[in-house]
Amino acid sequence: MRFSDIPGHEKIKKELISLVEKDRIPHTMLFTGPKGNGKLALALSFASFLQCNGDKNEDKCSNCIACKKTDKLIHPDISFMLPTVSIDNKSMPSSAFLTHWREFVTANPFVDIVDWMKFINAENRQANISKVSIDELLHTFSYEIREGNKKIAIIWNAELMGKEGNRILKLIEEPPKDSIIILIADDTSKVLPTILSRCQIIKTPPFSDEELLDYANANGPIDNIKQIVSIAEGNIITLNTLIREGEKDYFSDLLNWLRICYQGKTAELVGFSDVFSKYSKNDQKYFFRYGLSFLEQVLKSSYLPREEIKLLDSEYESMLKIRKILDEDKISAIVEDFSTNIRYLERNANAKILALDSSLTVFKILRSSV
Ligand SMILES: [Zn+2]
Repeated sequence: MRFSDIPGHEKIKKELISLVEKDRIPHTMLFTGPKGNGKLALALSFASFLQCNGDKNEDKCSNCIACKKTDKLIHPDISFMLPTVSIDNKSMPSSAFLTHWREFVTANPFVDIVDWMKFINAENRQANISKVSIDELLHTFSYEIREGNKKIAIIWNAELMGKEGNRILKLIEEPPKDSIIILIADDTSKVLPTILSRCQIIKTPPFSDEELLDYANANGPIDNIKQIVSIAEGNIITLNTLIREGEKDYFSDLLNWLRICYQGKTAELVGFSDVFSKYSKNDQKYFFRYGLSFLEQVLKSSYLPREEIKLLDSEYESMLKIRKILDEDKISAIVEDFSTNIRYLERNANAKILALDSSLTVFKILRSSV
């Protein structure tokens, strides 16, 4: 994994490289920030950069033996602590899942725990970083460096260590020479404060829309890419899911639904809630997420020039027509309804009832007098 495989994040990449050049690498680092921001990929690139013995010029060389090993995640001086599940009621160390992990991450470094649990056939099970995994790490760090420049541990989803995390405190407080512990966590509030206070935090923001656009377009043009990027909200995992799931036209679906709501014919409203309930769970959420992004564009269109509005020309024309029946109050009432819908869908609300409810709410909003 090279820094250049990750879109954007130029400032963080520079900071990381400068830490190495100035020989000021912290013993314990925590990469954090919202889901899908590429923090695992950044941590992997950084670890690879540290182990590279070739000509490092703002990225690892990719040709030396160390680089060949870090690419396959088989470098003996980089160990991983991963969320695992028990097998036959026996708690499992990370090493038991290492083969899976290599296959999983080398295929795609932009992943989250949900993908991982699916990959190890453990959906709906409780994952944690087990006590045996932590013992394994302590054991590894009791040995000298084997061939690398540093001894590195990457702890992915560090919040899942729970209280057991206290067991690595001594390692963090009295780190062996040339050792680096890299923690990765979405939510720092769930990392033990005793550990958190000893980490240098690398705050990683979500990707920008431009970064996601460049990333997506690198493999050829995608028709609905602007819609997809606006739904992804800086999350590259969501972006990849949307690209994989095909070129659904969220704009047409939304417009069609708004038209049905405006007309308010019961049979059509019920028909829509039927269709909606058959969308995938993700698509149900994405429908309203796209709706929020669309409404934002409607608002912006009143005071920003055309080129600032993230809609295709054909979409822009249709949006201008809809804008005539929407004022700011109506938009904010609909935004509130969509946001509530997303929250309810995340809690597994009945999609059919929710869609019908929302249709009636939007009907009332659209028909209310200004
Ligand atoms: Zn190299």
